[in-house]
Amino acid sequence: MRWEDNVRRVVPYVAGEQPDKEHMIKLNTNECPYPPAPGVARLASRMNTDALRLYPDPDATPLVEALASYYGLKKEQVFVGVGSDDVLSMAFLTFFNGSEPILFPDVTYSFYDVWANLYRIPYRTCALDEDWRIRPEDYRQPNGGIIFPNPNAPTGVLEPLSVVEEILQANPDVIVIVDEAYIDFGGASALPLLEKYENLLVVQTFSKSRAMAGLRIGYCMGNEKLIRCLNDVKFSFNSYTMNRPSQLMGVEAVRDDAYFREITRKVAATREWAKGELSRLGFSFPDSKANFIFARHESVPAEKIFQELKAADIYVRHWNKPRIENYLRITVGTEEEMKALFARLNVILEKEI
Ligand code: PMP
Repeated sequence: MRWEDNVRRVVPYVAGEQPDKEHMIKLNTNECPYPPAPGVARLASRMNTDALRLYPDPDATPLVEALASYYGLKKEQVFVGVGSDDVLSMAFLTFFNGSEPILFPDVTYSFYDVWANLYRIPYRTCALDEDWRIRPEDYRQPNGGIIFPNPNAPTGVLEPLSVVEEILQANPDVIVIVDEAYIDFGGASALPLLEKYENLLVVQTFSKSRAMAGLRIGYCMGNEKLIRCLNDVKFSFNSYTMNRPSQLMGVEAVRDDAYFREITRKVAATREWAKGELSRLGFSFPDSKANFIFARHESVPAEKIFQELKAADIYVRHWNKPRIENYLRITVGTEEEMKALFARLNVILEKEI
């Protein structure tokens, strides 16, 4: 037998480019344009590096407790991981273990089908309607579980809680995961539904609204039984996933609620202003409640704009994929960054039109 026959073949997720240029404007992976809460820097400056000899707390207890108390939950209802990608991956492995296909939208976070393939989970996609909205009736077919982001990515479209609840009501026998990576920029979280639905798992992250993508902190909240199942799988996989500095700095970020509210409000305000500027430049886009805008130009192809922006060291995201190949996903940066983007777009569009 050739060793090649025994290799697990996967088509990996393609992460957004991470260029490191001094004067770039980076609007391609939905990071926060503001620094983490000031307490994080204070903690970093007095961090005891001797403690790094020791393994970190495998349960990430201080961070789990801080999150539980922030959201008014029991600590047994919170699970943390190395970014929400790790949490989602563990959730796929734990809860999507049946023979029926899991369901998710056709245009959505492009890691879902990668995990499904990696773990050999059958899946079926449900097409968003022409306004990029979820059709809840699609989620009434037999399935082995459901996952969708709210707001959705890369569209930014927020579904009201009534849609989330309709899907939960129709699917009491499977786990429904709501990926709320972008909920803090203006959406209503499904967290209050946890009391009513023991099959709901709400996933969030420190990467966007808490400005800590570099530390890799994600978490999910749900019924105690679900969290126990997740921990059983996690501890069968890798015990010490979250490093000590991340656990401690995560706590600092959760403590500073005023700062969190201020930066999310600023990003949302810049987003609303940016919508007007984009319209003026001839772009159209579904209304976004996330920290990015998914926009297409009325006459210039997205690929062309993408390349021209990149040549000017302005990075946005573009996919050569069905339905979305003529769209750009533009992360909301600071007002100054957005002004520089619009100035460059003006030049590019004048040349092309
Ligand atoms: N969910 C969605 C919808 C995302 O867009 C992202 C960011 N790529 C993630 C989860 C993962 O983010 P992180 O691992 O940084 O928490």
